[in-house]
Amino acid sequence: MILLSGPNISGNEWKYVKDCLDTAWVSSVGSYVNQFEEMVADFAGAKYGVATSSGTTALHIALMLAGVERDDYVIAPNVTFVASINAIAYTAAQPILVDVDPGNWQMDLDLLQDFLETKTKMKSGTCYLKADQRRIRAILPVHVLGNIGDMPRLMELAERFGLEVVEDATESLGSYYDGKHAGSFGKMGCFSFNGNKIITCGGGGVIVTDNEALAAKARHLTTQAKADSFEYYHDEIGYNYRLVNVSAAIGVAQMEQLPGFIERKKEIAAFYRENLGKLPGISFQEVLPEVDPNWWLFTIRTDKQQEILKVLNENKMQSRPFWIPMNQLPMFRDAIYVQEKDQSNAIYKSCLSIPCSTNITDEQLNQIVGKISELY
Ligand SMILES: *Cc1c(COP(=O)(O)O)cnc(C)c1O
Repeated sequence: MILLSGPNISGNEWKYVKDCLDTAWVSSVGSYVNQFEEMVADFAGAKYGVATSSGTTALHIALMLAGVERDDYVIAPNVTFVASINAIAYTAAQPILVDVDPGNWQMDLDLLQDFLETKTKMKSGTCYLKADQRRIRAILPVHVLGNIGDMPRLMELAERFGLEVVEDATESLGSYYDGKHAGSFGKMGCFSFNGNKIITCGGGGVIVTDNEALAAKARHLTTQAKADSFEYYHDEIGYNYRLVNVSAAIGVAQMEQLPGFIERKKEIAAFYRENLGKLPGISFQEVLPEVDPNWWLFTIRTDKQQEILKVLNENKMQSRPFWIPMNQLPMFRDAIYVQEKDQSNAIYKSCLSIPCSTNITDEQLNQIVGKISELY
């Protein structure tokens, strides 16, 4: 089976994990955790990094620290992996889902601006939804598939409407807008190191921020909010969300290989764009000239979605339909959905992701292009 986006374990992973086991530093404290946090923060151009047990838990904590509370609203794109919206739900806030741009598949900022200008009102620097007077606290942009939308414009809108920005940068380690790394625009950015991401810890996440106090609070909340180094005194409800040293050890080894992985993802994307772009009816995610994406998960748009999915999977080339839009899932069916043409649904009906693991061979890439070309 040619995996869709599988782990590439080819560096010092064994050595560092063995070191954890040999020294019995296997749990939630250890030098690899600190090292991993620093490496990710450095790479992303942020001052601080706080490691978490997953990208989802990173998002939960970051939203809490952005001040999101029960019955608030958080604005997010309708096209994302469910974890983004689940994290909003964990805070007991509700999502406002915004449709995406049909070109780059990121949150449609025209729709967002129109919504903010017509459906909300400002009171003492705070944004409220006119319809029910509830507070809109934050925007959670998601850098879908490692691409990035017009972040300066999004940041301006957030500033104008008094909204905090937490970036779901889980898919975009190695992606830049105008030389600035994804996750470094908002108050906090969250990365994921789940098995199918560009690098993995097995499972894990990191919150990055330039704000020292927020980093300290994130560390506190993720470690059961223990407020005394000796006694079991906890000063608020905390979470057991810390990354363990064994996972961080894998992460450190993976970070060492990240530049090579990004390069390979770019080669794969260039190859597919060149060879599949010749076929009629296949198109790709548009990329703004300012954006240098990591091409995490290669996804095509086609009029033969079902046929291609069938042929590739039958030939052990793992391919997957795109995410079902959030407004179509049972738990978010009643959420506010800001849209005009429901591009989310059109994208869902026509897109699919094809194998792009960093250790895929050129021969395998040719086989995949061959199978798709045969269909045409
Ligand atoms: C992977 C991912 C997450 C969650 O990360 P986990 O580490 O799996 O919890 C959140 N949001 C998006 C958009 C993702 O792709």
